[in-house]
Amino acid sequence: MRLVFATHNEHKLKEVKLLLPQHIHLMSLNDIGLAEEIPETGETLEENAQIKADYVTQEYGYNCFADDTGLLVNALNGTPGVYSARYAGPKNDANQNMDKLLAALEGISDRRAHFKTVIALNLNGNTIHFNGIVHGEITTKKIGDRGFGYDPIFMPNGYNLTFAELPLDIKNKISHRGTAVSQLIAYLNIPKSFP
Ligand code: IMP
Repeated sequence: MRLVFATHNEHKLKEVKLLLPQHIHLMSLNDIGLAEEIPETGETLEENAQIKADYVTQEYGYNCFADDTGLLVNALNGTPGVYSARYAGPKNDANQNMDKLLAALEGISDRRAHFKTVIALNLNGNTIHFNGIVHGEITTKKIGDRGFGYDPIFMPNGYNLTFAELPLDIKNKISHRGTAVSQLIAYLNIPKSFP
């Protein structure tokens, strides 16, 4: 079965490939010859995920899923949320985004936050959404060099390590994206390749 994952992000692709069984022929945007970013013009994670999935299905005719993720910080009333990628500017620079967030939380003791992922799947003319959330805390400095995005400053509840320190198989088991992909797998009615 061919399925496009509407992303250019190699880290996301690696995470999702680990979760999906090998008989799913997963293709990225690069694989289908789409080099430019699909503009995320929605005001919610749901809208942005749907915009990306629809673009691929309408322009290329593929069954496709797309994800959109936000980091919602309690003390900042849920920001950066849907604007997480562009928090420090249009470039989606992970270090600048993390620096801005650490500065915004300086001196604040409530560090609670959660990642939320929404996946929009277009399959044979049907559309369905899946959600995943992981709760945790924002650290006071960057720790670890795995992963991507805000991983070095996010410590999931129940762990003393940030997502950038945890092995990918552990991140995948508990993460926002891992949870949403598990639902996608269940919907597709295929066995998980990952224990
Ligand atoms: P998007 O879903 O790719 O638009 O991601 C929004 C923002 O959240 C970007 O800055 C990403 O780098 C960041 N992000 C998405 N998923 C993760 C993750 O699993 N860990 C850390 N940061 C993430």
